[in-house]
Amino acid sequence: MTKTKAPQNTSYDIVIVGGAIMGSSAAWFLSDDKDFDGTVLVVEKDPSYEFSSTMHTNSCMRQQFSSPLNVRISQFAADFVKNLPRYMGNDSRVPNLSIQSFGYMYLADNADFADVLRQNQIIQNAAGAATQLMTPEQIKAAYPFYNVDDIVLGSINTVDEGFWDATAVFDWWRRSARERGVEYVQNEVVAMTKNAAGTQVESVTLKSGDVIACGKVLNASGPRAVETAKMIGVTIPVEPRKRYSWVFSAEKPLDRDLPLTIDPSGVHVRENGGGTYQAGGHTDIDPAVAYDDFHMDHSLWENHIWPILATRIPQFEAIKVQSEWTGHYSYNTLDQNAITGPHSEVENFFFLNGFSGHGLQQSPAMGRGTAELMVHGAYKTLDLSPFHFDRLAQNRPIIEKAII
Ligand SMILES: Cc1cc2nc3c(=O)[nH]c(=O)nc-3n(C[C@H](O)[C@H](O)[C@H](O)COP(=O)(O)OP(=O)(O)OC[C@H]3O[C@@H](n4cnc5c(N)ncnc54)[C@H](O)[C@@H]3O)c2cc1C
Repeated sequence: MTKTKAPQNTSYDIVIVGGAIMGSSAAWFLSDDKDFDGTVLVVEKDPSYEFSSTMHTNSCMRQQFSSPLNVRISQFAADFVKNLPRYMGNDSRVPNLSIQSFGYMYLADNADFADVLRQNQIIQNAAGAATQLMTPEQIKAAYPFYNVDDIVLGSINTVDEGFWDATAVFDWWRRSARERGVEYVQNEVVAMTKNAAGTQVESVTLKSGDVIACGKVLNASGPRAVETAKMIGVTIPVEPRKRYSWVFSAEKPLDRDLPLTIDPSGVHVRENGGGTYQAGGHTDIDPAVAYDDFHMDHSLWENHIWPILATRIPQFEAIKVQSEWTGHYSYNTLDQNAITGPHSEVENFFFLNGFSGHGLQQSPAMGRGTAELMVHGAYKTLDLSPFHFDRLAQNRPIIEKAII
């Protein structure tokens, strides 16, 4: 039986459904806004976050996107991570973090995808990213461990692209938000009540039976976003998709950092430190799964992932799997991109959903933007309106050609 706790009050200016990286980012940026002195309640059904997407990630950021806005969103993530103490008001307890910029190495084995990499590089460079294209010979010279026999082009950026400590940022958002008065409660939002006109959510009902009046509601419920949206009678194209991860040690570790390598098969692998590496992938048939389905398919490694890795990096013939797990993407079936902003009719219901495989690095910009929109009614920094909910009805996908 899940434990629940009643909130201290019966009314809040903002109720956030889900307290993982997105909910906590929004909560912290709200608490950081000098023009906002309202009350914020974060309702989180599982404060261990055991099954959240946030706890299952690769914890990497990249600037290699095909949409300039996605590049800028990640650039803010890099700035935020590298300047965490400054963003947190020069709090001396906050650690200095860095990005382990081994880069993402996209590999193309055909002319069409090589063209996509070329087009992406132009967009990325124009947005200020340092993406470089590499011929197979250049790849081999810089990273002799790769087999590039089938490769026609690679693309990599080693500035602000690689591993970062998302757990530390997540912890500090929660800790600092709480210290500034944001209330986190273990409970589950199970229903919402709208006003007679259907234009406002008036209250949320919790699993404990408590009914909490709210000024605004934020859906930050990850792969369950569709369930939260249903509470106001809305459907969004988000579903849980299973993603598998493995950490393995190599008998003979590579002699330099392994970029987060995206093999043409879609399988990816990156440096994990100390002669270990982290790989990820999914099954060819990639259905929506049940919210509680974290079953590990052990044959996937032997039959699919490892053979691909050992072909791309022959030194990975001799490895030992140390740990493995499954996690869920909150997969936006329209375009695998964020769904943000207010609902078009239920005006005080906001979305932070559908981040698929790149939500961790988007959390600083998305939390900041959502707080701006909720407090000021407009974006003050990066304009995130292209991702707004209304693009779903208008069938306006933002096609991202650099998806993992
Ligand atoms: C294997 C894997 C690798 C990834 N790698 C990367 C990466 O390298 N870089 C990157 O940027 N992104 C990555 N991602 C994506 C990233 O992890 C997610 O986009 C991000 O964590 C989403 O955060 P979230 O807060 O929206 O959702 P979640 O972390 O899933 O959190 C949602 C929370 O809402 C709570 N909740 C749901 N419904 C309710 C309710 N009704 N009431 C109360 N609480 C509720 C849940 O308990 C949960 O804690 C990866 C994801 C996976 C699965």
